[in-house]
Amino acid sequence: MFDRAKLKRLSHICAYCGKALREEEKTYDHILPVYANGNNATYNTVVCCPECNTRKAHLDISTYLALNYFYFFYFLSMHF
Ligand SMILES: [Zn+2]
Repeated sequence: MFDRAKLKRLSHICAYCGKALREEEKTYDHILPVYANGNNATYNTVVCCPECNTRKAHLDISTYLALNYFYFFYFLSMHF
């Protein structure tokens, strides 16, 4: 079920590390990178901190989470 309150709360939290973000700190990451035919649709973008955005760079989400074991479990706890 669509949870508007949870969605709004998550829009101020880095999707990868859970850090609370101020408006000016927010960056947006493509879950499926643009080079891999990812698009700008809402379902393909997440709010994240600059550090995670730089760390993830061009990796797709599964590769990034596999390489960052800690974030894999954190990501699961945040989103599921
Ligand atoms: Zn982060």
